[in-house]
Amino acid sequence: MKTYQVEHFIHGSLHQSRLPRYADIFNPAYGTVQGQVALGDADDVALAVAAAKQAFPGWANTPALARARILMNYLNLLHQHSDELADILTREHGKTTADAKGEIARGIEVVEFAIGIPQLLKGEYSEQIARGIDACSMRQPLGVVAGITPFNFPVMVPMWMFPIALACGNTFILKPSERDPSPSLLHARLLREAGLPDGVFNVVQGDKQVVDALLDHPDVQAVSFVGSTPIAEAIYARGCANGKRVQALGGAKNHMVVMPDADLDMAVDALMGAAYGSAGERCMAISVAVAVGSTADALVERMAERVRLLKVNHGKVADAEMGPVITKAAQQRIEHLITEGVQQGATLVVDGRGYVVPGCEQGFFTGGSLFDHVTPEMSIYRQEIFGPVLCVLRVPDMAAAAELINQHEYGNGVAVFTSDGGTAREFVRMIQVGMVGVNVPLPVPMAFHSFGGWKRSLFGDHHIYGPEGVRFYTRLKAVMQRWPDSVSKGTEFAFPQMK
Ligand code: NAD
Repeated sequence: MKTYQVEHFIHGSLHQSRLPRYADIFNPAYGTVQGQVALGDADDVALAVAAAKQAFPGWANTPALARARILMNYLNLLHQHSDELADILTREHGKTTADAKGEIARGIEVVEFAIGIPQLLKGEYSEQIARGIDACSMRQPLGVVAGITPFNFPVMVPMWMFPIALACGNTFILKPSERDPSPSLLHARLLREAGLPDGVFNVVQGDKQVVDALLDHPDVQAVSFVGSTPIAEAIYARGCANGKRVQALGGAKNHMVVMPDADLDMAVDALMGAAYGSAGERCMAISVAVAVGSTADALVERMAERVRLLKVNHGKVADAEMGPVITKAAQQRIEHLITEGVQQGATLVVDGRGYVVPGCEQGFFTGGSLFDHVTPEMSIYRQEIFGPVLCVLRVPDMAAAAELINQHEYGNGVAVFTSDGGTAREFVRMIQVGMVGVNVPLPVPMAFHSFGGWKRSLFGDHHIYGPEGVRFYTRLKAVMQRWPDSVSKGTEFAFPQMK
């Protein structure tokens, strides 16, 4: 089979490392190597930063409306190339075509939001804050900023970052996941075709070496990271120690509480999609169902029927509901955790281990698994499995459900299913989680709100995209101005105050 190479993109063209290192890119449905991705080093990062630094003054001085128009061209190109993007997603990530299209659509929404940048950058103005003095505030870009992204949304997660960073007037360096790197080059190509000047958007492929070089480079002003919690925490610490602005979004363990008064059909449908869609490889996937009171037996029975019928297949098969997981190592880790769950005393109601898809025998598939009678000390409850495994915990009432969730180290997303408005309201108010769904299983905020978890699901002060994204990628400047009268009032040595 013919393989392909994925290189860096610096100053408007493809770039090869001086001392090339490469990693294999797998097709997870077949378990075969289909290409190689360059793994850059500090030299490649230095080149990309120099290109982005050189491009910054011109881009920052381009009127916001002109920047928005380039993003508008890019938006049109994205629509034209969405089938190509979806194909790449299925080929390198493994997700189904329908899921890939959903990912692209959610990324496109961020571009649509970023096109409103002239409005979003408007500052504030107060006249006559003291006699003859007016004050205003404005938001200005930071300079060269970097984004480091995970494998699970290789199109959308970079788009949580660069459309807003660019719209604000920054120049950008993307370090995509080395597992599915090709969408990064399509983004680069389309942005260039849309009219983005060279050096404004750059891609350095690679692993820890590139990440460390970005974190240590004095000309990188800010870093956005999305990935697992241990790496997010390390990146936050190193980036902050180097004086950078950092937002680092980490892992998750998202619960869905099913109250006895919930519509069970609706809850089961919601759980199926949220737990098993994209093979559970979503940071907002529901991986824990908390069955309250009398709900548990009926819920587990209904879920077991449905999980056994899950259509696990190559993402290109029209009725596939989930595809493979990303790597052989991920498949083995997930199945090992399932074995540990059994050893620790949970009831494995549906066992997805050893699932084989005809025609894709070497693919990294694992079927849907369902555990009942899971307890909080078990590793399947404490750890993020990041695979198609749902754990059911049984609790007596809503207070016990909330206490359980509030004690978990992660706080990304949560959902409650109930038909009682008072219960929902109380839950929303007391739960220690960043994104909450009421009868909505995946409460991923739209592009004009912002996305982010609490606790060990996010390190830093800003959520990502939406208004928080604009704040993250700009700094505030306050201006006080007086146009002197013809007669000077002389020097004042006391601290300025309103007169
Ligand atoms: P990961 O942490 O392994 O990798 C993320 C990025 O960090 C990649 O670009 C990778 O090359 C780089 N990286 C990996 N190891 C590194 C190291 N030691 N030093 C520096 N950089 C390193 O994550 P992943 O497996 O690609 O993605 C899955 C994880 O991402 C899950 O934990 C998931 O919950 C999380 N995620 C979180 C969100 C969110 O919004 N909170 C969204 C998507 C994914």
